[in-house]
Amino acid sequence: MLKKIVASALLVCGVSAVAELKVTTTIYPLYSIVKEIGGKKVELNNLIPFGVEAHGFDPTPNDMVKLSKSDIFIVSSDAMEPWKDKIIHSLKIEDKVFDMSKYVKLREAEEEETHGHEHSKGDHKGENIDPHYWVSLNNYIIMTNTISKLIIEKDPQNKEYYEKNRENFLEKVNSLKLKYDISMQTCANKKILVNHDAFGYFADDYSVKQYSISGMTPESKPSAKQIAELIKIAKKEGINTVFFEEFASPKVAQTIAQEAHVKIDSLRPAENISAQENEQGIGYLHIMEENLNKLKFAMGCK
Ligand SMILES: [Zn+2]
Repeated sequence: MLKKIVASALLVCGVSAVAELKVTTTIYPLYSIVKEIGGKKVELNNLIPFGVEAHGFDPTPNDMVKLSKSDIFIVSSDAMEPWKDKIIHSLKIEDKVFDMSKYVKLREAEEEETHGHEHSKGDHKGENIDPHYWVSLNNYIIMTNTISKLIIEKDPQNKEYYEKNRENFLEKVNSLKLKYDISMQTCANKKILVNHDAFGYFADDYSVKQYSISGMTPESKPSAKQIAELIKIAKKEGINTVFFEEFASPKVAQTIAQEAHVKIDSLRPAENISAQENEQGIGYLHIMEENLNKLKFAMGCK
């Protein structure tokens, strides 16, 4: 009874105890920002489950149900989510879609000349774009401002709440960016060997040369010849760490590290986190700070 009275009192006042704005995101980096800005005022759902490798995702019928109830569907790019157009079309939710790749600074995908399979440029939609733009803190700041603007547009009543969240979050992002900016001026060997080409935006920001084991997606397997080539590169370029990533196999990285007599460590593209990390409040900033420490060691920065 009491519950009923409270509920109707809230209704009379025009205040709802339940979040009114329903947002669905595709990948974790987008989710991380909506979570910070939207807080308790937004009901948030991420399509790609925690703990899985984000490139190989296929939506389920249950995802379609969640999506049909959302007010906004934030996607990251055609290159990262080639499956999305079909869903958007079948649910007729074109007017709810917000494509973040239209707002950030994009770079082209690296030429994958060591990976045999050749495409002529522009074969497929979005193919030439490097989809990992959130790995640049500059882009992450743009994403934060863009998402905050979008949420305020859809729910202007809570403008102040969202703006305060944005300011608090941006303060943390900017302070991490400052750490990157300072450290990256002090490196002895600005070269990294990573599992897949997820760090191109970071590499561009700080004039770092990125070598990768498997190209633009984590699961494509290099040939024996390509592995031999990477071992040669590791030795020639003075690489001291071969980086693997947590949601893909470390096998090839282990082989290269063994043959080149260097250490192996994980570097996270922040494409996803585990469910446990999400519960513990470990997210994008934590990952990027950990990455910074590992990158500093790998490139001999102070
Ligand atoms: Zn990736």
